[in-house]
Amino acid sequence: SNTKVYHSLRPSAPLPPDPAFLSLSDYIFSQLEKNPSLKTAIALIEAATGNSVSYPEFIQRVKNLARYLQNKVGLSKGDVAFILSPNSIHIPILYFSLFHLGVVISPANPMNTTLEISRQVELSKPVIAFATSAICQKLPRLFYPTILLDSHEFFLMMTTPMSTNSLKITKIGQSELSVILYSSGTTGKCKGVEITSRTWTAMTSAAMKVSRSNNKQVVGLCVVPYFHSFGFGCCVKAVATMETMVVMERFDLRLMMRTIEKFNVTNIAVAPPVVVAMTRSERGVGGYDLSSLKVVSSGGAAIQKVALDKFVKLFPGVQLSQSYGMTELGCAVAQTISPNESKMLGSVGRLAPNCRAKIIDPDSGVCLPPLQQGELWIKSPTIMKGYVDDEEATAATLNSEGWLRTGDLFYIDNNGFLFFVERIKELIKYKGYQVPPAELEHLLHSHPEIDSAAVIPYPDEEAGQIPVAFVVRRPCGNIQESQIRDFIAKQVAPYKRIRRVYFVDSIPRNATGKTLRKDLIRLAVSGHTSK
Ligand code: AMP
Repeated sequence: SNTKVYHSLRPSAPLPPDPAFLSLSDYIFSQLEKNPSLKTAIALIEAATGNSVSYPEFIQRVKNLARYLQNKVGLSKGDVAFILSPNSIHIPILYFSLFHLGVVISPANPMNTTLEISRQVELSKPVIAFATSAICQKLPRLFYPTILLDSHEFFLMMTTPMSTNSLKITKIGQSELSVILYSSGTTGKCKGVEITSRTWTAMTSAAMKVSRSNNKQVVGLCVVPYFHSFGFGCCVKAVATMETMVVMERFDLRLMMRTIEKFNVTNIAVAPPVVVAMTRSERGVGGYDLSSLKVVSSGGAAIQKVALDKFVKLFPGVQLSQSYGMTELGCAVAQTISPNESKMLGSVGRLAPNCRAKIIDPDSGVCLPPLQQGELWIKSPTIMKGYVDDEEATAATLNSEGWLRTGDLFYIDNNGFLFFVERIKELIKYKGYQVPPAELEHLLHSHPEIDSAAVIPYPDEEAGQIPVAFVVRRPCGNIQESQIRDFIAKQVAPYKRIRRVYFVDSIPRNATGKTLRKDLIRLAVSGHTSK
């Protein structure tokens, strides 16, 4: 029929009443305080040093920092805080302090260049920045103060007990802005994604419900960055379910293995390249005792079938759980949650609680029945409110009935399992990181020796996809591949670099001027091109 809507098969989780005037920190801490194990539970372990923070200390630090930021810095509800940092044990504390105050959290990738950061700051309009001392010089010079996360002052802000100037309670409605993340969406340049409090209350109420029925202590290692929606969600969920969070600043396979062994890590959250690396390291893994490891959750991009098969063979006792999310969806909307579901290798799982899906034929707009491929549309309490100051892009992504177009081609089987087929939107994913072709094309077109250009994804075993450029030289021009690569590399974060250049006489476009990317991808993959 034309009205096929897929409903989540999981029990729905109770959503807090709307509007619930409680900050997310209050909401989560009030639940945690009912748990008798709170007193002895460990919240954070710094992998590099073994330093740990207990849950009571964590809550205390969150409140100390919030009180400082409220009384000494003057932050209040609706202000925006820009954060530029690799993962560290300070980040979850900072996030929950800002939640407490209703300050809008806007974390960005510290690999970004000053140019890219300027664009993000223009979108989110922060009044304060938090950064590490190694990265803070990347911040564009503006009027706002910067607090250094690795300074002694910051340590004191978190650890100095509350004295005078108590912490005022902040009331926050479900539909109020909570976080601004960055994404290019289905097309175009970087945009600010507005996430409201409802995303986190909906996501955590579902997570708390599952974790109550499962009382083993989870020791989680989040190898995905906290600034990305996947890592951000892991952090919020970990606190809501009283997990121990082991924090590693940067990914290194051997360090990760050693960390799993040393701290008896039970769950890791990773992007697909980590799964690939684990399957390649037969000897490396052999040296470590990974018997504590129960679940590997992979998300952010597709995993190739060969890697899945190899992983299952090498780690028979480990559940490889795939999840599917998108910055604009707020958090994962599909996941395999049990060992049984995870046996559906290649599926990203079933719909999360309170979530609905449609599979839409991209040509006719008709809703498709099971097993037929079409664009995935999602309706869920976690999805974004819209893009910052961009009604046009918002309207193109979110329709008036609240359905969000993902730009991903999927099918759903008869048992409610979702299968990702391919991306139909204009987005390249390099190791799970977003590389928007439009941004690179814009830079290529600014070069005086380039007449026109198009950027496409090229399949790569390790990175998933790499950005590759097709370039038409200006008449008489003789620009070389290495010059083009350097020109781009100077202006973008390392993960966005163009890895290969093909020179062509013209870029294939349709009658309306749209680049025929499929034709270019076919050309590149078939090898019928010259360098
Ligand atoms: P981001 O906003 O950076 O999280 O990127 C979201 C996009 O990543 C999705 O629209 C998908 O194209 C892709 N993606 C995320 N998770 C998966 C997955 N499990 N399998 C395939 N693609 C994925």
